[in-house]
Amino acid sequence: MKKFSFAIHGGAGTILPSLMTAEKEATYKLGLSTALSIGTAILQNGGSSLDAVEAAVASLEDFPLFNAGKGAVFTNKGTHEMDASIMDGKTLEAGAVSGVSKIRNPIKLARIIKEKSGHVFLCGSEAEVFAKTQGVLFETDDYFYTEERYQQWQDVKHTDTYQMDHSDKLETGEKKFGTVGAVALDSYGNLAAATSTGGMTNKRFGRVGDSPMIGAGTYANNNTCAISCTGHGEYFIRAVVAYDISCLMEYKGLSLKEACEYVVKDKLVKFGGEGGLIAIDTVGNIELPFNSEGMYRAWVKNNEPMQIAIYK
Ligand code: ASP
Repeated sequence: MKKFSFAIHGGAGTILPSLMTAEKEATYKLGLSTALSIGTAILQNGGSSLDAVEAAVASLEDFPLFNAGKGAVFTNKGTHEMDASIMDGKTLEAGAVSGVSKIRNPIKLARIIKEKSGHVFLCGSEAEVFAKTQGVLFETDDYFYTEERYQQWQDVKHTDTYQMDHSDKLETGEKKFGTVGAVALDSYGNLAAATSTGGMTNKRFGRVGDSPMIGAGTYANNNTCAISCTGHGEYFIRAVVAYDISCLMEYKGLSLKEACEYVVKDKLVKFGGEGGLIAIDTVGNIELPFNSEGMYRAWVKNNEPMQIAIYK
């Protein structure tokens, strides 16, 4: 049997049973189990952690309920500007992209940037020019449209605030972050992480969150851990969350659990940063900490049964 650990997320936030219907919950779980199964099959067959995280995140991008790829939130101009990143823990090579609006699977473009561009981070229309040269799949605007995201944008488009991925009217105070991500340890002992997002509803001025930023929203290092974050990106950038956890392990000798608890439940809370992350260490321990009400998450280890959870 191949030994591996694998975890995915579909965003964190004010996700409460009282705000959920049975039907919607079942649909979210379907999206998570589909993505987890795709990545798991790769790992069980001796595939790499990099291939597993890319495939799982692409599956979540294709699933309209999550805020990434199809179903990405609307910007202030009524467009979609998507961000993604991927990192290989063995080589510390990384690829990232921000502000693309026509790419079906931004995570696949991030992987190609890592492997073919000679750079780490490309943005906007020029990233799409590069994507064209690589045969990446493009879509028209209507592919990314979903009625729910459109209504969320209508609620805030005349304000100058950007919003988390709101699932309901603002008065409910409900907010959630629909960003998706995956982390994996494969049977060769290699870690990888990937994250993809539409960012925040009504965002302006080319705003970019933590998701495509290596070290903030995504990080992988075979000496420590693989991390993918979700939450209020501005705080995650300033706290350099993903790399901070890796550093606490590498330089201070903390365990993955101790580092995650400190950064997510203590440091970020004091800072005002709401959200969570998924993490795997070099021996396959999985941590899924969040300081919000809930986080869409699923995970599996070796031949143990797959697990899916949404609430605390
Ligand atoms: N972290 C993402 C951002 O700030 C949002 C999210 O997690 O949904 O763009």
